[in-house]
Amino acid sequence: MRVNVIGPNLPDQSKGSFHVHKDTCRDGIRLDRMTGMGDIVEVETKADAVLFVYDNGILEEGADWLSCFEDLYFCPCCSDLPDGEAPIEYRRVEVTLELRAADLERILASDEVFDNLDYGAQSELRRAVNELTGGDA
Ligand SMILES: [Zn+2]
Repeated sequence: MRVNVIGPNLPDQSKGSFHVHKDTCRDGIRLDRMTGMGDIVEVETKADAVLFVYDNGILEEGADWLSCFEDLYFCPCCSDLPDGEAPIEYRRVEVTLELRAADLERILASDEVFDNLDYGAQSELRRAVNELTGGDA
């Protein structure tokens, strides 16, 4: 479906920073004309529209998929669009691990592991190490 992704900084953001309309929807055309902030994109799912808006480093930095999703308001003209799923690299699981402080420090010290974590996971690990060691990792 071709949709018009309009935003951010819309006059009414109570439903979300971005409004998504079918490209032929009159409300969308009007809003696009008024704001000049529309982008016509071809999407198969709502998740595609979320990626169009946020797959520019924001999600890599640990932004939460669900809050990004909820930041897009989909007009009823888009009701045929399925939700779709977050790509695997943006899915999150919560893992509870019991590690010794030394194990955590080794993870922090390993560029290969640590640098490839997203920002949220890096902060969590730093916080856990500081808690264990009373240090300032
Ligand atoms: Zn619409």
